[in-house]
Amino acid sequence: MITASNLTKRYEGFIALDEVSFSFPGTGIFGIVGHNGAGKTTLLKIIAGLITPSSGELSVNGIDVIHSPMALKGTLGYLPEESRLYETMTAEEYLAFFGEIYGIPKEEIIVRTRRLFAALSLETGGKKLGEFSKGMKRKTAIARSLIHNPDFLVYDEPTSGLDPMTSRFIAEYLKKLKNEGRTIVLSAHNLFQIEAICDRVMILRRGKVVALGTMDELREQFGSITYTIWFSHPDPSRINPQSLNYRKDDRGFACDAGDMASLNVCSETIAASGGRVERIESRYQSLEEMLVAIGE
Ligand code: ATP
Repeated sequence: MITASNLTKRYEGFIALDEVSFSFPGTGIFGIVGHNGAGKTTLLKIIAGLITPSSGELSVNGIDVIHSPMALKGTLGYLPEESRLYETMTAEEYLAFFGEIYGIPKEEIIVRTRRLFAALSLETGGKKLGEFSKGMKRKTAIARSLIHNPDFLVYDEPTSGLDPMTSRFIAEYLKKLKNEGRTIVLSAHNLFQIEAICDRVMILRRGKVVALGTMDELREQFGSITYTIWFSHPDPSRINPQSLNYRKDDRGFACDAGDMASLNVCSETIAASGGRVERIESRYQSLEEMLVAIGE
């Protein structure tokens, strides 16, 4: 359970986060989205106890993160936007290094490392981290965030810069982590992925919360369903193009309506000119369309 009230972060007069409040109940995946500079990384760092807000309150699973950030350490796995790996180490040495920091016995580190690399489909081949591809590096950083088996994960753009296959693999892996009972707070620019894996989503704009809820709640909040009316017509020349803007493709004739009223007008125009409405498809705004509509 995460509860944030009125989190504000100021940088020398500039407000990166402005009175951000939200709560995320139970376990699951909480996605934070917004344009570049919206405040996502700043918020994730505050949630992970890495930076202190200028004001506000934050509790994660009963821990007062602002006043006792170290209390979170054992249960937190943090993945920074760009993780600098030690290029001359092997991935195994890298995990051993961090495992030891957490006081995990050597044999146990070896077992956990093997298990994590297998789960992440990471074949290290004894290479040094400097020789790894971007995807391999990201997987290593994810494995590192999990070596101490934390149940609270804060991931800053876990799939950024990765090819679609690797990106999808990691998204699926995050779902597995969630199904094991972990809570994940993440940011991402891949909005399609956010829609697919997040239980709740928060949209930030210039440091302020502009929307918060499940994808269904956001769709309701942003409304804007578009309708496509598919129709058949024996003589389309009888349709006045001024009154109905339609197109034809291999599925038949189609026109779009932005709301119920224009849907009715289109249907009536089709019927009045001798056509027949065959079916109506509705489509909600995607998260990407919502973000575009909100603007920078
Ligand atoms: P992106 O999607 O580009 O990663 P973001 O949503 O993660 O962006 P933040 O990195 O949180 O955004 O930055 C929010 C704003 O705060 C930006 O305008 C940024 O320049 C500013 N900012 C962040 N860190 C600092 C800092 N240490 N000092 C001054 N300004 C900062």
